[in-house]
Amino acid sequence: MKPLESDSDEKQQIDYRLYMPYPEGWKAHLKIGWEKQYCYSKNPGEDYFHLILNGEIYLEFGHEMHCLSCAMRQGLLTDDRLNWQKTPRKDDRNRL
Ligand SMILES: [Zn+2]
Repeated sequence: MKPLESDSDEKQQIDYRLYMPYPEGWKAHLKIGWEKQYCYSKNPGEDYFHLILNGEIYLEFGHEMHCLSCAMRQGLLTDDRLNWQKTPRKDDRNRL
């Protein structure tokens, strides 16, 4: 068993911030209420869409809603804070 100080050190190292390299057209929402809304995507091998729950944060593009797990899997989101240094920007592409 680890001492308590070690556990709190580990928790402080986790960065929960997420980034969207190409955010144009996307919106982030907080689901309020129990009206049934489903994620637009499925996990590989699953034959059902994810129910977005009351209090869950999700992304929307037009009529498409995506849970954060699917958005991460599809590369829409990243936890890489320096992603902007690695992905070509729309502005850069226009200059070519
Ligand atoms: Zn999903």
